[in-house]
Amino acid sequence: MKQFDVAVIGAGAAGMMCAAEAGKRGRRVVLIDHADKLAEKIRISGGGRCNFTNINAGPANFLSQNPHFCKSALSRYTPQDFLALVKKHRIAHHEKHKGQLFCDVSAEDIIGMLKAECAVGNVHWRMPAKVDSIEPGEDGGFTVYTDTGVVNVQSVVIATGGLSIPKIGATDFGYRIAKQFGLKLVETRPALVPLTFDAQEWAPFVPLAGISLEVDVETGSLKGRNPDGARFREDLLFTHRGLSGPAILQISSFWQPGTPIVINLLPEMDVAQELTAAKQSTKKQLGNVLSQWLPARLADGLLLAHSFNSEARLADMPDAQLRKLGQLLNQWTITPDGSEGYRKAEVTRGGVDTRELSQQTMMANKVPGLYFIGETVDVTGWLGGYNFQWAWASGVAAGQVV
Ligand code: FAD
Repeated sequence: MKQFDVAVIGAGAAGMMCAAEAGKRGRRVVLIDHADKLAEKIRISGGGRCNFTNINAGPANFLSQNPHFCKSALSRYTPQDFLALVKKHRIAHHEKHKGQLFCDVSAEDIIGMLKAECAVGNVHWRMPAKVDSIEPGEDGGFTVYTDTGVVNVQSVVIATGGLSIPKIGATDFGYRIAKQFGLKLVETRPALVPLTFDAQEWAPFVPLAGISLEVDVETGSLKGRNPDGARFREDLLFTHRGLSGPAILQISSFWQPGTPIVINLLPEMDVAQELTAAKQSTKKQLGNVLSQWLPARLADGLLLAHSFNSEARLADMPDAQLRKLGQLLNQWTITPDGSEGYRKAEVTRGGVDTRELSQQTMMANKVPGLYFIGETVDVTGWLGGYNFQWAWASGVAAGQVV
């Protein structure tokens, strides 16, 4: 007889949730992870306070080649379900911004809660343990070879996450196992990541590092030509190498290399119209007028970079110049040359092709007993607690059936 029914590989957000759920159904579960320290990604998430869900999370907040895939799991385990668990464990929390729920004290509270739930399900831990390979078992099921011994199980759940932040243990293990069993992958790339620019092109903006302001940012076509078109109103942050902040992290998941992003630096204002009106009534210089609306350093930097004279008197400027400036500030169009990569990305876009999996159970259609959950799957959430909600929901979906 097999010692365990289920092996869950990866004790992160999705893996712990799945193991606890299966264990509470009476399944004998072994949870295997190669890291020395448990759930590092949860620990560093949300600036150490873990944005553990978003009360408004729904399928529209996720990117995937099949946008319908996530619907079933998300509707069966909702943000309210996770919040009920958080409340049951008396974890102090608060809503920060646009439905984002954070711990008051520390992300450790969420890790502690998941560990406690695993304990209720009598989950057996093997950690740190490196998985060398997974092979189909002779009598059905699977044999998992680890550096701490062999485990024979009926089902294997792959919850090893994406490629983001290799320094804390991210690997391509999930994708390798998918390939080994003949499943298709959707190309992966860093998402929720700062964008970078050609060093020479960015040179005039380097002194603006540290400036932050609320903007509208958009990429692709919003008129249906590019299904990845998107627009967000969030804070933008200038960095030494490019742009960051929530606005850029959000748009980075949709951005296609080689295409521009368009930033409206004054989304509440038609700048050309305001400048033309101000021209009649002010003796001020251009730089002084703009610094009423924008951080002065940003106004000066942008004017310099685009060859406007900040000392010119507004009253002396031709209307055509003001329209050009209006367009610059309302539609600043720039083309990133790349991103900060997996080193800085919060998540990985792409992964195991959802067409290979059951949307009810997360099991591979052509490999009975093999499941994929969490970030390994081609379902990527926006910034704001959505990625954890997918980890919880997909973990529970598999945990209820393995
Ligand atoms: P993970 O949580 O990454 O867990 C994967 C586990 O698998 C790890 O424990 C790893 O050690 C283990 N593993 C990997 N390879 C192997 C292997 N070969 N053998 C054995 N074990 C292996 N999302 C939010 O919703 N809110 C946030 O506030 C938030 N903040 C973030 C901040 C940062 C800096 C980062 C990087 C991400 C953040 N995210 C946030 C995203 C979120 O952390 C992930 O989407 C989520 O953790 C994915 O869960 P997962 O269980 O699929 O993978």
